[in-house]
Amino acid sequence: MRYHIESGRLVEAQWVESPNCDARSGQIIDLIVIHGMSLPPNQFGGEGVVQLFTNQLNSDAHPYYAEIANLRVSAHLFIRRDGQIIQFVNFDQRAWHAGVSRYQGRSACNDFSIGIELEGGDAICYTASQYQALALALKALLNAYPTLDEKHIVGHSDIAPGRKTDPGPLFNWRALFRLLNNS
Ligand SMILES: [Zn+2]
Repeated sequence: MRYHIESGRLVEAQWVESPNCDARSGQIIDLIVIHGMSLPPNQFGGEGVVQLFTNQLNSDAHPYYAEIANLRVSAHLFIRRDGQIIQFVNFDQRAWHAGVSRYQGRSACNDFSIGIELEGGDAICYTASQYQALALALKALLNAYPTLDEKHIVGHSDIAPGRKTDPGPLFNWRALFRLLNNS
């Protein structure tokens, strides 16, 4: 199976537009950042992340939401536990996913990265379906954007150490790269 990218969109993903993006300031895209989160934390299958990424999170719906409902954030992709992918921001646009961040001496990683959010929590293993969908999406991205390289795929915690811990210590990088390099 192969996934496809056309005009900055992953064809196999559901499209839900987020306003939390803007134009890239001419920088090439050469980094992929893997994230993990769920809303409410450690509960899966709900609409919380979709609502957060589209500025529709109801701050009264959960105690934690009051802290985050005013954030203006979105990854490019969100991969649910069953491997379903939702795309919120065109890859050619800058999504607001990384926040204060630094990679190999360059700050503001949103400028030059693509952000992929996995539905999960730091203390819970991600699913086989998520690794498969992630690997397919990454292969499509590496193919569509020659400036990307699998050597430059990192976790949010790698570019915002001390501030972010996702995708967490249970994220299996070896399994991901095994899938990426198969077929
Ligand atoms: Zn993150």
